[in-house]
Amino acid sequence: MNRRNFIAFTVVAAGVGYGAGKLLPKTNSHELYLRPPGAVKNFEALCIKCGQCVQVCPYHSINLLDITQGYSNGTSYISPNDRGCYLCDLFPCVLACPSGALDHHTTCISDVLMGIAVLGDVNSCLAYKNENINQNGVLKMLERKTYNEREEALKETIKQRVDNECDLCVRLCPVGDGAIAMRRTKDGANLPDIKEKCVGCGVCAEVCPAQIISIIPNKKYNEIYKEG
Ligand code: SF4
Ligand code: SF4
Ligand code: SF4
Repeated sequence: MNRRNFIAFTVVAAGVGYGAGKLLPKTNSHELYLRPPGAVKNFEALCIKCGQCVQVCPYHSINLLDITQGYSNGTSYISPNDRGCYLCDLFPCVLACPSGALDHHTTCISDVLMGIAVLGDVNSCLAYKNENINQNGVLKMLERKTYNEREEALKETIKQRVDNECDLCVRLCPVGDGAIAMRRTKDGANLPDIKEKCVGCGVCAEVCPAQIISIIPNKKYNEIYKEG
C-alpha cells in the first residue's frame, strides 16, 4: 500500500469530517528544544554556550536559552514560531561552532534533521477556509526589523502575498514540495500536507498567519506519521 499523507491531529481531523486514511500522529507532544541544524545527539553535553552560531545566523533564528527556561541554560535553540531556520547555504552556524555540538559534516539540506512539522487546528488554516491573507495576520513578520537583504527579501515575499490566497507555509519552505505541498481534500478545500522530506526547520511554523503549525524536535517523519 502506498504511504498516505495524514493530517496532524486525529481529533481535529475527525472534528472537521476530514475523513479516514489521513495523517495520524503517533504522538503529539515533545518537550525537547529545537536545536540549530547539525545538532548532534549529545548536543547538550557539547554545546559550550559560546553564542557563535547566534552571531553568524543571517536570519537571526538562533537564541541562547536563558534562566527562565531553567533547563539547558545557555545552550542554543530555535523558537520556530518566532523565526525558523532557513537552512542557508554552507550553514554558517555549523561552520562557526567550535565544540562539535553542531556536526561539521552537515553540508547540505539532506544532512539536516531538526524535527518534524505537524498541523494543528486545520479548521483555522486560511487555505482550508478559502480565506485570503489579512495584513494583521502577518503584521509580526512585516514589522520585524531586518538587518540584511535576506531578511528584507523574506519580508517582501510575505508582503506581496497579503490579500492573496494563503500558501505561505508551502511557498517559503526551504526544502520544497518533498517536505510540504498543498493538496485538495475530499471536500474540495486546499490543505498543506507534511511529507517525508520535512526536516523540521520551522519556517512554516513561523510564517503561518494562523499559527497552526508546530515542530516536534528530534523526530523523524516515520516516528510521527503512521498510516491510518
Ligand atoms: S556555536 Fe556551537 S557551542 Fe557555541 S552556542 Fe552554538 S551550538 Fe553551542
Ligand atoms: S515543512 Fe518545510 S518549512 Fe515546514 S518544518 Fe518541514 S522543512 Fe521546514
Ligand atoms: S500558512 Fe499554510 S497552514 Fe498556515 S494558514 Fe496558510 S495555508 Fe494554512
